[in-house]
Amino acid sequence: MSRRKRDIEAEARVRGDSMEVFSALANDTRLAILFALAEAEQELDGPVSFSDLYKRVDIDDSGRFNYHLKTLTEHIVARSESGYELRYAGRLIYRAIKAGFYAGEQTLPPTPVDSTCVMCGANLVARYDDSRLAIECHECADLYYLVTLPPGALVDRTPDEVLRAADQHVRSDITLVSHGVCPYCSGTMTATRDRVSDSPTGNVYIHHFCVQCDQRIISTTVGELFLSHPAVVAFFFEHGVNLFDKPCWEIEFCVTDEFTSVSSDDPLQLTFEYALAGDVIRVSLDDELETVDVSVTTESAT
Ligand SMILES: [Zn+2]
Ligand SMILES: [Zn+2]
Repeated sequence: MSRRKRDIEAEARVRGDSMEVFSALANDTRLAILFALAEAEQELDGPVSFSDLYKRVDIDDSGRFNYHLKTLTEHIVARSESGYELRYAGRLIYRAIKAGFYAGEQTLPPTPVDSTCVMCGANLVARYDDSRLAIECHECADLYYLVTLPPGALVDRTPDEVLRAADQHVRSDITLVSHGVCPYCSGTMTATRDRVSDSPTGNVYIHHFCVQCDQRIISTTVGELFLSHPAVVAFFFEHGVNLFDKPCWEIEFCVTDEFTSVSSDDPLQLTFEYALAGDVIRVSLDDELETVDVSVTTESAT
């Protein structure tokens, strides 16, 4: 059997399983069972018995209750001798519902925030809609940063607190993708580079593709890859700058291309260079984004 045919058959199996999961949940009683199991999990240390679960769900007919529970046991609920508990997929679906993934109710109109543009110093403006947080500088570039952010990030937070949460989210995503791990499914990510000569935020973008979850793409600048690079973090810290103290869109090496360059096209080599208090750090990455060289020199010695 060809690889293409195997891929199509595997995809069809996944879709078939997913149809079963979604049709199993398209029912009030089964959703009530999902919620009852999730809530019981927070109270009990282990599975919940049939009789306890029956009491927790508002249904009078134990035969119908049993039928609905059985419908869920293939993919969403695990049954053992000690009772019932959610499978991993069931927990994920419950959390997605609780986090408001399907509600789409959270929005934020354009709001000035306590964060400044590294290019012009103007206050940035945040806007949120359809699970995306846009950070804009209305002075020098309309779109400054675009972050995919679950709606739960906006609950009980001020716009500035939302931005702090978004910063942590972005940093975590960058760390994962730069190590080849998909933030959504933990599948393998591969990277390609794209030179964009007229981009205001970097002349090389790295596009990270997930081979598992339908080629989910995340793009980073070369500078963003250095946000958690040990040599860069240590260099700044030793010079009195904690790179974790301000959001990544306020760190100039992340949002401009001034500090990163293509030092070789074939094979590709990218170099980061930054000077602080007379010292200069240089870090070179190869085409696999692996560090090939780190040096710190004083400017007088260069
Ligand atoms: Zn600006
Ligand atoms: Zn993925």
